Amino acid sequence: MNPQLVLVGGGHAHMVTLANLHYFTRKGIHVTVIQPSEHHYYSGMGPGMLGKTYSPEEIRFATRKVVEKKGGTFVKGKVSALDPEKKEVLLESGDRIFYDAVSFNAGSFIPMDIVSGETANLFPVKPIESLKTAREQIISLSEQQPVRVAVIGGGPSAVEISGNVWRLGDRFCRHPPLITLFCGARLLSRAPQKVGLLAGKSLEKRGIDIRFNTPVDKIEKNRIFLKSGAVEEADIIFLATGIKPSNIFSNSGVPTGPDGGLLVNRFLQNPEYPEIFGGGDCIYFKDQPLDKVGVYAVRQNPVLYQNLMAYFDNAPLTPFEPGGDYLLIYNLGDGTGIFYKWSIMFGGRPAFIIKDYIDRKFMAKFKASEK
Ligand SMILES: Cc1cc2nc3c(=O)[nH]c(=O)nc-3n(C[C@H](O)[C@H](O)[C@H](O)COP(=O)(O)OP(=O)(O)OC[C@H]3O[C@@H](n4cnc5c(N)ncnc54)[C@H](O)[C@@H]3O)c2cc1C
Repeated sequence: MNPQLVLVGGGHAHMVTLANLHYFTRKGIHVTVIQPSEHHYYSGMGPGMLGKTYSPEEIRFATRKVVEKKGGTFVKGKVSALDPEKKEVLLESGDRIFYDAVSFNAGSFIPMDIVSGETANLFPVKPIESLKTAREQIISLSEQQPVRVAVIGGGPSAVEISGNVWRLGDRFCRHPPLITLFCGARLLSRAPQKVGLLAGKSLEKRGIDIRFNTPVDKIEKNRIFLKSGAVEEADIIFLATGIKPSNIFSNSGVPTGPDGGLLVNRFLQNPEYPEIFGGGDCIYFKDQPLDKVGVYAVRQNPVLYQNLMAYFDNAPLTPFEPGGDYLLIYNLGDGTGIFYKWSIMFGGRPAFIIKDYIDRKFMAKFKASEK
């Protein structure tokens, strides 16, 4: 049998590997890529898709197309666990796929512990593709009357989602939605205070109701139960309460970090099972825990590609250097953004223009492999 490489998830850290897949297949390595969707959606432009600045086609990569074009096999499915002793990944369908080397880029998810009952009107902000359904639902419900939209969480995605629901309502809904943001003591609490204040000012100016200090206890259908005892109603609820690494690894007998992510050393390789690699939100980087931001997944790209190739060639591996501070720009949905790196921070139109330029450039670079 030919050597088998399995890629679980075609996320942001597998972009370079996918673009260079033909170098594996030409060597006789059989590559299988497993992903629940035929497309991978770029999270940086997800809120912009919700607000209709971008179409779904503009923000997604055609994973199946690229894999098949380059001689690999695409499996539409979800990996639920792995058996590191037998070197098999287990799919939700019950199928098992053998690997000589495997690389995980399966991302993260929003825990739903506070949710019970029906979830038809509830949208966790991941997977990004669900924002497409949310936007159609908001437009359709707005035909009759203003939709009550609740956003739970006060981090970057909650801010971006609130701002972009506003844009959707302002431009595309018959009756603009009533947007309420339920959050903690401040917005964007991991950034300097000025960044949170800028975001709050922009949202409030547009009539978005920010309810500070309103932790949510549970959500049942259309009702939000606050820890204070108050109960709020909403037609659409976005959950942006923080993420956890993919739960593939928790019951798989493979070493994990304290957050349940796949433990990897500086070569993005599991220390106990050297044939297991990983990148992006689903890993725990042993040397230095990394923020769950796309920036790191993108930086890991070339190292994952080189190391997977080196593994099959018995060549030395390359270490991953996380690098210094990273740039974040938030899309506020009204054509403005907030730019933040080191001590530089500013809001307004230029910040959004820079973000839009960087995001479109990233998309164009990797969409080139689809042609
Ligand atoms: C709304 C929003 C906006 C964001 N904006 C930014 C930003 O502007 N800048 C920034 O740096 N970060 C941003 N982030 C954070 C960023 O999304 C993550 O850090 C980034 O997506 C991590 O990339 P990833 O490839 O590891 O995971 P993902 O992007 O989640 O990709 C994982 C891939 O694996 C697939 N997959 C998932 N589970 C399985 C499974 N069990 N089996 C097989 N395949 C699977 C998925 O379908 C997906 O294609 C944002 C997050 C959100 C929610």
